[in-house]
Amino acid sequence: MSKEKQFVTEITPQAEDFSRWYIDVIKKAELMDYSPVRGCIVFRPEGYEIWEHIKEELDRRFKATGHRNAYFPLFIPESFFQKEKEHVEGFNPELPWVTEAGGEPLEERLAIRPTSETMIGHMYSKWIQSYRDLPVLINQWANVVRWEKRTLPFLRTSEFLWQEGHTAHETETEAREETMRMLEVYRSFVEDYLAIPVISGEKTPSERFAGAVDTYSIEAMMKDGRAVQAGTSHYLGSKFAVAFDIKYLDRENQLQFAHTTSWGVSTRLIGSLIMVHGDDRGLVLPPKIAPTQVIMIPIGPPKTRDAVLARVDELFGQLKQAGVRVRVDDRSDVSPGWKFNEYEMRGVPIRLELGPRDMDNGVCVLVSRVSGEKRIVNQSDLLAEIESMLEQVHREMYEKAAAFRTENTFAVDTLDEMKALFEQKRGFVTAGWCGSEACEKQVKEETGATSRNIPFEPSERKASCLCCGEKAAHTVVFARAY
Ligand code: AMP
Repeated sequence: MSKEKQFVTEITPQAEDFSRWYIDVIKKAELMDYSPVRGCIVFRPEGYEIWEHIKEELDRRFKATGHRNAYFPLFIPESFFQKEKEHVEGFNPELPWVTEAGGEPLEERLAIRPTSETMIGHMYSKWIQSYRDLPVLINQWANVVRWEKRTLPFLRTSEFLWQEGHTAHETETEAREETMRMLEVYRSFVEDYLAIPVISGEKTPSERFAGAVDTYSIEAMMKDGRAVQAGTSHYLGSKFAVAFDIKYLDRENQLQFAHTTSWGVSTRLIGSLIMVHGDDRGLVLPPKIAPTQVIMIPIGPPKTRDAVLARVDELFGQLKQAGVRVRVDDRSDVSPGWKFNEYEMRGVPIRLELGPRDMDNGVCVLVSRVSGEKRIVNQSDLLAEIESMLEQVHREMYEKAAAFRTENTFAVDTLDEMKALFEQKRGFVTAGWCGSEACEKQVKEETGATSRNIPFEPSERKASCLCCGEKAAHTVVFARAY
C-alpha cells in the first residue's frame, strides 16, 4: 500500500462508525487531546485557533449591538444558588464544589460556575438603582464547568469555553427584543461564518434553561442526522431580578424589578462544524474560521526547486499582506501527494500548487477542498481568484449542508410513523404537538428523540398531535440529539 493510502485509511469511514470517525479526525488533525481529568479536553493550537476566529467575529457583532465585555469570578458562594429555586434544581447535579482552600475548610462552599446568572444578579442589584442605569448590556468570555455524565469532545465537555451575555432592562418588551436580537446574531453568525444552516425557534417548557421564562435556540443537523443545540438565548423575566433584588426607580419614581436576559454559545460550535462538514478524508473547514485558508505546495524536480520556492515566497507575501491566512509547506522530505492528503485531512479550504511549468505559463493551480474543483489561474490575478474561491467554498459548504438537512427532514402525523421512520433513517422529524409534557415524554421514551424546538418557520404545519391526536398547539422538530 502506498504511503498516501495508509495516511487516509487511519480515519474510520463515516458510514462505518460516525463516532469513531469524529474522534479519529479531531485527534489526527490535532484539534484536541484528552486530559487526565474525565470529560475535560485540551484545546491544541489547531483547535484553539478555530475558537479564536469564532470569538473575534462574535465579539465584533456583540459590540456592534451595544454590548461591552466584563469579567466575573469563577467561584460562586453556595447561598447564591439557593436564591432561585429552579436554577439550583437544574444545576445542582452538575456542580463541582470547593470545600477547602489554603489548607482549611471553607465556611461556605464555593461552586465553580456552571453559568453566571447568580453572581451577575448579585452585582447588578448593586449597580442598578434607577431607570437611568438601564439597560445594562454585558458579555463575558469565560470557562465554565458542568459535571456532565456523558461527554464528547467539544460537543459536551465538563469544562468548556463560552461567552455568556447578561442584560437587564426596564421593560419586558425591551428584554424580549434583546433575547430575539441575540438569537438572530447567533443564527446569522453560524450561517454566514460556519456555513451551518440552523433552525431558530422556541424550546418547549421541559427543555428550557433552569430558571428561564422562555428559552430560544438554534438547532443544527449533523451528518449522522442527529441534532446539536448550537446556541441559546433566554428571556428570564423578573425571576432573577426578584431572587437577587435587582430593582430600579422608574420614570414615575416607583420601584420596579428589572427584566433580564442571558444568551450563550460555546466551544460546542467547533464540534458542530466538524460534524456538519467533515467527510471520509477528514475535516472540511469553513473558510472564515479556518486557521489556514490557503496551503501553498511547491512541486517539481529538485533542480527547479529553488526557482519555484522563490516565486512561492513572493506570492505568499502578497496574499499574507492582503490578510489571507496562508502557509507554505516547503518540506523536501515529504512528497507533494502526501502533503495533499495531509491538508485535505486538516480541512484547509484551498490548496495552491505551483510547479516549473506553471512558472513558465505565469499560472498556478487552485484546488477546492469541498468540491475538488481544480482551477488554473493567472498569478497576476491570484488574490482576486483566492477571494472569490473562498467565497464559493463557503457557499458550496452551506448549500451542501442545507441540501443534506432537507433530504433528512421528514414530516409525520403519528408516533407509529415516526418509530417506523427511525428504524430506517436518522434525521429531523416535523410533527404536531398538543403541548402536553406527557406526549413529549412518550416520544422521547419510544424513539429516543427529544423536542429540539418549535421553529419560527416550520417546513410545514401539522394540525394534530403525533401522540394523542388532539389538536396541535405547535409544530415541533424532534430529533435524537448530542
Ligand atoms: P445554556 O446556558 O445551558 O443555555 O448553554 C449555552 C450554550 O452552551 C448551549 O446552547 C450549548 O451550545 C452550550 N453548552 C451547554 N452545555 C455544554 C457542554 N457541556 N459543553 C459544551 N457546550 C455546552
